[in-house]
Amino acid sequence: MTGERPTVRVDLSRVRTNVQAIARATGVGVIAVVKANAYRLGAARVAGAIAEDVAGFYTFDLGEAIDAGLPRLGKPVIVLRGDLNTADEFLAAGARPVVWDVATARALRAAHPVLAIDTGQQRFAAAAADVPAIIQAGEIDEAFTHATKLEHAVAFEAITRGLPLRRHAAGSSLLSEPAARFDAVRPGLAIYDGAVAVTASLIDARDATGPAGYSGFDVPRFGLIGAGYSQGLRPGPCSIAGRPSRILEVGMQTSFVELAAADRIGAEVTILGDDVPLSMIAPAWGCSMQQVLGNLCRLGERVYVKPE
Ligand SMILES: *Cc1c(COP(=O)(O)O)cnc(C)c1O
Repeated sequence: MTGERPTVRVDLSRVRTNVQAIARATGVGVIAVVKANAYRLGAARVAGAIAEDVAGFYTFDLGEAIDAGLPRLGKPVIVLRGDLNTADEFLAAGARPVVWDVATARALRAAHPVLAIDTGQQRFAAAAADVPAIIQAGEIDEAFTHATKLEHAVAFEAITRGLPLRRHAAGSSLLSEPAARFDAVRPGLAIYDGAVAVTASLIDARDATGPAGYSGFDVPRFGLIGAGYSQGLRPGPCSIAGRPSRILEVGMQTSFVELAAADRIGAEVTILGDDVPLSMIAPAWGCSMQQVLGNLCRLGERVYVKPE
């Protein structure tokens, strides 16, 4: 049964050109968000491919940063969960902790902490009223907010106005908003956009003899691919030999796809790619593009297309 699992192709040169395009379009540095193993593209490979082009990296915890080898790449590394490690651990790893309260800012002062300011998310971030005391306790020179709407960036600007801070706010959804740019942008999804293609071969193809599967879907012809909900797949769009089609029903380790008369065993099914982008899948799944990407990247073994 080898060779049935889908292939996940990660185009590292596309990640790199995405970073370069964002830097050009925004006119500021790009802090690459490589948390969750770079949205499951593989953080070590991704970070190595873009190290020359980024202003820094951002991860969720220190373990992720170390596992991905980020401290060796010579760029600043910001770690959200500053509360989980000591100043010595951050210093030894060459990473900067994020803080959002006075006690942690003081305890981590030697590790050059970065302040997170709450502008709506109410998670891992300081209330505006606490900002001056935290800046003093941690001798802070850099602050950000997790802005997903313009109003978050506007609130951040008001809270930090006139303070001697390097500032950043925008993730992927606010890259086109000049008012959210400040001194850097901090995208995740946008640097991975279009860089992953997930394909599978048809492992069965047949004309229906009646309603099929658990759900009794009713189509003239259907086939199977070797991935299911245990790998994170869900019903939604796909394409077969360049023609739009559908993943009709997802089983535990295989899924039914709708076929045209000419489709045969071995035909290539695109689960994610240029003709089936994240922006098409996410509404069908009813979740974010980040979640779709993370799920589809674990459908099969990753292979890398290297830069240059
Ligand atoms: C995950 C994350 C981002 C990136 O979000 P995208 O929408 O994927 O660009 C930016 N900033 C913070 C603080 C995050 O946690």
